[in-house]
Amino acid sequence: MPTQLEQLNQEIISCRKCPRLVEWREEVARVKRKAYKDEEYWGKPVPGFGDPQARVLVVGLAPGAHGSNRTGRQFTGDASGGFLFPALYKAGFANQAEAGSGSDGLVLKDMYITASARCAPPANKPSPEELNNCQPYLEREIQILKPKVIVCLGRVAFERILRIYSIRDSSFKFSHGAMYRISNSSFNLHPSSLICSYHPSQQNTLTGKLTVKTFDDIWRQANELLK
Ligand code: SF4
Repeated sequence: MPTQLEQLNQEIISCRKCPRLVEWREEVARVKRKAYKDEEYWGKPVPGFGDPQARVLVVGLAPGAHGSNRTGRQFTGDASGGFLFPALYKAGFANQAEAGSGSDGLVLKDMYITASARCAPPANKPSPEELNNCQPYLEREIQILKPKVIVCLGRVAFERILRIYSIRDSSFKFSHGAMYRISNSSFNLHPSSLICSYHPSQQNTLTGKLTVKTFDDIWRQANELLK
């Protein structure tokens, strides 16, 4: 019998709630990038993946058009993943530093990776309405996993989590390395901690806004909170 998480992922994969994103993800999968012309693109919503017993939930933005929209696994096959997985490997959350395809043997330990929107958006920008459409999936992941630590990769993920937990406290501000306690709420009856990190996109890594060291600090913080 499928687990709750497996059932949820099946629902996500067949979702067509956002017409603009459905059209875009399928168009990209049909046209392809020259370098991947012989590959079959995933071209569907990308579900979360990782350890079903995870205490750490990582929330990204949305699939890359030629990254996870191609490979079908979060952060797999693009530059953001190329920065993320070596850091997770170093911190003990992944069994390997590389993530090239969905069948590369990567296993996450005590971690589950998901996104604010599950379909690749044009210009990497899901609209507010599309984020709202996708929010219930993230809510259900949180309710199933009951994470002790939530790491938000980027401001969009951070704002989504605040929205889910109905946090209107103006002292919750996005900055790299900021950590907040989320107390019990009507949404969730278990306490969690929230860590903010810059997203490991090339926009941040190539400009030096996010470095290997400052990214490693995030995962060290997460490990500390698990002790
Ligand atoms: S972004 Fe989310 S809600 Fe919209 S079509 Fe994709 S999976 Fe469905």
